[in-house]
Amino acid sequence: MTAHVELKKNFHMDQSATRLDIPQRHDAAGARQSPDEPAPVYVTGGHPDSRVVVVCEHAANRTSGRFGDLGIDAALMTSHIAWDPGALGVAKALADAFGAPLVHGGLSRLLYDCNRPPEARDAIPARSEVHDIPGNRDLSEAGRARRIAEIYEPFHAGLNDMLQSRPALPVLITVHSFTPVYRGVTRAVELGILHGEDPTLARAMLATTPKDNRYETRINAPYGPADGVAYTLDRHGSANGLLNVMLEIRNDLIATPEAEQAMADLLAPWLERAIAAAGEKGTGR
Ligand SMILES: [Zn+2]
Repeated sequence: MTAHVELKKNFHMDQSATRLDIPQRHDAAGARQSPDEPAPVYVTGGHPDSRVVVVCEHAANRTSGRFGDLGIDAALMTSHIAWDPGALGVAKALADAFGAPLVHGGLSRLLYDCNRPPEARDAIPARSEVHDIPGNRDLSEAGRARRIAEIYEPFHAGLNDMLQSRPALPVLITVHSFTPVYRGVTRAVELGILHGEDPTLARAMLATTPKDNRYETRINAPYGPADGVAYTLDRHGSANGLLNVMLEIRNDLIATPEAEQAMADLLAPWLERAIAAAGEKGTGR
């Protein structure tokens, strides 16, 4: 399955997402998605010589009637269980700083968590933190297959196509946010630097932590690869020989556009130094 990705090869980051042309699916209505329907993945180009690609799987909290009703309060759709608040703003600012391509999701992770393989129990969670998700708990096999085919597969095809079209692009950075309080427990960590199979870039980041970093920074926190969160890193980063790291930012620190930009202003030069310190590993794929 190959999704067609139209890359913008201009020299300036284009903040308007390029909509993927999603292959026709055999859905019940037999109709093409309307232009108002969120796409499963959005890809923007960036500078042709960029050494970095930025990915944000949990960028959006939108749903679509075509996938059924999740059966939860509308208010919950604005909470962290539906998406990573602030993460897309940081991802865009980072992509801008690097002139990097950006690949991000367009649908809530409650429909499908694109940082999980289909066999993962929490790819389509029946329960998230303390909330039941009736529309997932009662999902039919056909409904599950449809979400895999129409969200998971196009997302990863879009990212894969981007990487294959840019063979000299050696660094993959994924951007996420996490809730300050989880199951009633306050999290002290503010910035998590996570790795999967290849710890090179994460360790280089720790070794190049800027003196003015005032955030409580930890490796593989508030969760790590044992919790199944390194799927995108391993599938698209380590497997392709790319340096890769996952950034987890506590979402109260990126609650405004100004705060998102300030976080990116801290992270971009830090990543630049870490990438340099990690050497040229990844360019020979
Ligand atoms: Zn996330």
